[in-house]
Amino acid sequence: MTERLDSTMPICGDDFALSDKQQGLMALARQLGRDKFAPRAAQLDRDAQFPFANYEDMREAGLLSLCVPEAHGGHGADYATYAMVSAEIGRYCGATALTFNMHVCTMLWSGLLSEDLEMTPEQRRIHQSHQALHFSRVVKDGAIYAQPFSEGGAAASGAQPFGTIAVKAPGGWIVNGKKIFASLSDAADFFGVLCTEKKPGTDLSRRDTLYLAVPRTAQGLTVQGDWDPLGMRATVSRNLIFQDVFVPDEAALMPQGLYFQAASRWPHMFMTLSPTYMGIAQAAYDFTVAYLRGEIAGTGPVKRRQFATKQIAVAEMFIKLEQTRNLFLRAISDAKVDPSKSARLRAYATQYTIMENAQDIARLAIRTCGGQSMLKSLPLERLYRDARCGSLMLPWTAELCLDRLGREALYEPGEKDE
Ligand SMILES: Cc1cc2nc3c(=O)[nH]c(=O)nc-3n(C[C@H](O)[C@H](O)[C@H](O)COP(=O)(O)OP(=O)(O)OC[C@H]3O[C@@H](n4cnc5c(N)ncnc54)[C@H](O)[C@@H]3O)c2cc1C
Repeated sequence: MTERLDSTMPICGDDFALSDKQQGLMALARQLGRDKFAPRAAQLDRDAQFPFANYEDMREAGLLSLCVPEAHGGHGADYATYAMVSAEIGRYCGATALTFNMHVCTMLWSGLLSEDLEMTPEQRRIHQSHQALHFSRVVKDGAIYAQPFSEGGAAASGAQPFGTIAVKAPGGWIVNGKKIFASLSDAADFFGVLCTEKKPGTDLSRRDTLYLAVPRTAQGLTVQGDWDPLGMRATVSRNLIFQDVFVPDEAALMPQGLYFQAASRWPHMFMTLSPTYMGIAQAAYDFTVAYLRGEIAGTGPVKRRQFATKQIAVAEMFIKLEQTRNLFLRAISDAKVDPSKSARLRAYATQYTIMENAQDIARLAIRTCGGQSMLKSLPLERLYRDARCGSLMLPWTAELCLDRLGREALYEPGEKDE
């Protein structure tokens, strides 16, 4: 068999050392992606419908508990393992990978990541009892969690406190506010809502951010708005309105104050959307090679690989893909609490590179393959539209990555010019 980088190989290439557990999970993601998700992707995209069947497959295969700790019955996958599995899924269905991110990272943030943070013994004890509840919903009931934090203003970029407010009530919290772009809005059983605790007599503060799991069935929660976007159409990311929604204390996915600590000390928590787009970049490259070799079903036996300009374009795509992949693999192994300054800057550079290069590789793929390749009967035009969405994702949009990189490269914490 001809050996080349294509969909028969894992996203990390054939020479990246994977543990047995990682190999098993990657193989599972690849098999589901190739055999189940890819054939469904076109119709879900066309109809802007959530991939319910893909989630049923992932539920059956145990993938919904990818980042639930082993002690709670999950796979206990670490950050890098999550990222590689997610990229593998993104190769076959971008919207499934992007929404999978929202679910799995809720488990990652409240599980593995929060273990690294400082809590009082009392906070840790209560957090462990909340974890047991949330993890068992996923492992035993196959529950799906979403991660709505965007509000349309400066809060999701980290510049202001969230405008969705929680006020303490006996035995729980009362939540009011609005979230936009809530992926999984048609499918989640729980929405992991970032909101600000309103303390009597004080201004709202980012330090008082709360992370609460609001059940879809909660009284006062409504899902609102149309969903007819350019790309990532199957994410079904509509608006959520919270009107005096009561949630009990055990809805907390993190103790009070912990999200603020996590956002400051575990920056890679905001890089978790990029694996989806790493997968899309790989898919656009895979498609181009197969198309130019005349191997795409239904496109006739015409080969285009003999033209020098096509070869140069594929070379250019390969260079971009390898630059992107290598940064990706390096950055996901950097992820930890209190990373060095260079690892933090590399995380911004990685997010920027993946999100921008995925679009560019998809653009080159269409230019190189030619007009027939962008017909809706083929996946390339969907990859091109899905790729376009990556650099818009807060809090690390491409613009904000540049912003942070420039500032943090030139200023040490606390430094000012005057
Ligand atoms: C397909 C898709 C799925 C999504 N799924 C989710 C989801 O599940 N959960 C979720 O929370 N969000 C989700 N989002 C939302 C996404 O993360 C962003 O919040 C959204 O794209 C921002 O749109 P906007 O028009 O408000 O952006 P912008 O106007 O770019 O940003 C909003 C605000 O952020 C600040 N800001 C932005 N850029 C800068 C800058 N360069 N410098 C300073 N301040 C800046 C400004 O205050 C600005 O008003 C999704 C988006 C898409 C496209």
